[in-house]
Amino acid sequence: MELLYRSLGKTGLRVSVLGYGAAPLGGVYGHVDEATGIATVRRALDLGINLIDVAPYYGATAAETLLGMGLEGVERSSYVLATKVGRYGLMDFDFSAARVVASVDESLRRLGTDYVDIIQCHDIEFGDVRGIIDETIPALEKLKDQGKARFVGVTGYPLAPLARVCAELEIDTVLSYCRFNLLDTALRDRLPFFAEHNVGVISASPLAMGLLTPTGPPAWHPARADIIAAADRAAKYCADNGLDLAKLALQFAISNADVASTLVGAAAPEVIEQNIAFAAEMPDIRAIAEVQQILSSVTDPTWTSGRPENSDSPPVPSVTKGT
Ligand code: NAD
Repeated sequence: MELLYRSLGKTGLRVSVLGYGAAPLGGVYGHVDEATGIATVRRALDLGINLIDVAPYYGATAAETLLGMGLEGVERSSYVLATKVGRYGLMDFDFSAARVVASVDESLRRLGTDYVDIIQCHDIEFGDVRGIIDETIPALEKLKDQGKARFVGVTGYPLAPLARVCAELEIDTVLSYCRFNLLDTALRDRLPFFAEHNVGVISASPLAMGLLTPTGPPAWHPARADIIAAADRAAKYCADNGLDLAKLALQFAISNADVASTLVGAAAPEVIEQNIAFAAEMPDIRAIAEVQQILSSVTDPTWTSGRPENSDSPPVPSVTKGT
């Protein structure tokens, strides 16, 4: 089971095509006991995953704390650690320079390290993107000089704000989630733009946050009912035909070489093992096409996230006609 590694933009980092998303360590998908969480992190590293993504938001700092326990004693230079600033709750955002700088120190303490490889501004569509460009990112860039972060990135669901930041500033990475999977491939159209700007692309949630799995999404999932119903039909089709929806979804998501790494979440070592095995197999192209056909009944696979002005297709102001 050999994992492939790809270059992450201009960072000089080589990252595993499958990265470890540590959000589930915060209990996002159900309770995780400490020993299992630690074993999951260790298994990921032992099997060759070298990119780990987390955030203070996940489980209200619980994911960072448990990840820190999992990383204790592991040679620091053997993995690429990414965390985030700016999002602290469902609707709790603070992108001010003072808060994000303090936030990094708090994360470093929880993670048990004195630097992160990538510091990312979390879900920028919820903020004033102008302010993030003028204030937040420059504050994060200064952390490079202090040795607390090596690279700076932005994350979010709509792609337009991520592209806007890359057009205005020389950032290192973008993390897009739920936009390159069996339902939604919008990220693909933006890849040439990010490549032109030398920005490393990380794609998260290849299983669309649990939607593209045999057991379906968690109750909090933001997808509309018709999207969930289509995913359910796809899961049933797979079960009836001896296929695994999560496997097909994962194989599809990692197939594009312009995406440096795809972050998949897990809270059990067996899930890591299974996903690495899926990634190492030849993709089942015919089954992938069949499932895509079932999912093609969904006309618009997206949901709203963040401020209206930061959406991929901002609302056109209505014009009141005079009589
Ligand atoms: P995901 O699409 O990776 O799905 C995770 C869920 O699928 C978990 O419940 C996991 O246990 C389950 N799963 C994993 N492999 C499976 C398999 N083989 N069979 C059945 N179920 C399986 O979604 P995610 O965890 O939300 O995303 C991955 C990571 O990406 C996160 O942990 C986080 O680090 C990152 N992320 C970042 C942002 C952001 O920055 N805004 C948003 C979303 C995700």
